[in-house]
Amino acid sequence: MNQDTMNRGFSAIMKELGLKETPKRRAVLEVLAEQHGFLSPEEVWRAARVRFKTIGLPTVYRNLEELAAGGVISTIIHPSRQLYYYFCTTGSGHHHHFICTSCRRVEDIPECTVAAMEQDIITRTGGRITSHIVQFNGLCRHCLTDPNKRITT
Ligand SMILES: [Zn+2]
Ligand SMILES: [Zn+2]
Ligand SMILES: [Zn+2]
Repeated sequence: MNQDTMNRGFSAIMKELGLKETPKRRAVLEVLAEQHGFLSPEEVWRAARVRFKTIGLPTVYRNLEELAAGGVISTIIHPSRQLYYYFCTTGSGHHHHFICTSCRRVEDIPECTVAAMEQDIITRTGGRITSHIVQFNGLCRHCLTDPNKRITT
């Protein structure tokens, strides 16, 4: 994505969500969009502070929550239970993520094969499923082939 496409994309996204495009909200989104992996709220805050010395951690938390609620960014739940955020370019359509717990890379899994499992659960329980949250955790192929590149999180 070049800067221009990114700028236009951001404005359209915020308009669609009915979110006012404030410089701070934009900075939060830009920080995440520049990353290929997921970031903790504190890391987003530290990077955003380079642009906005006055941005507070509560503002960053609030903006992350609003952007996640609107489906602009994805929440990543690390096996450590810590919450991270990720700017997914695939969009807000239903899909899953394979996350690397070493380098924090995120790969999109567009096919949802959970539907077959849901059917089985419905048959067995007689209930109704309204949603599911599935995330695959592990090591990406880059980290598997070059263990020296691994970072610990
Ligand atoms: Zn995604
Ligand atoms: Zn990796
Ligand atoms: Zn699914």
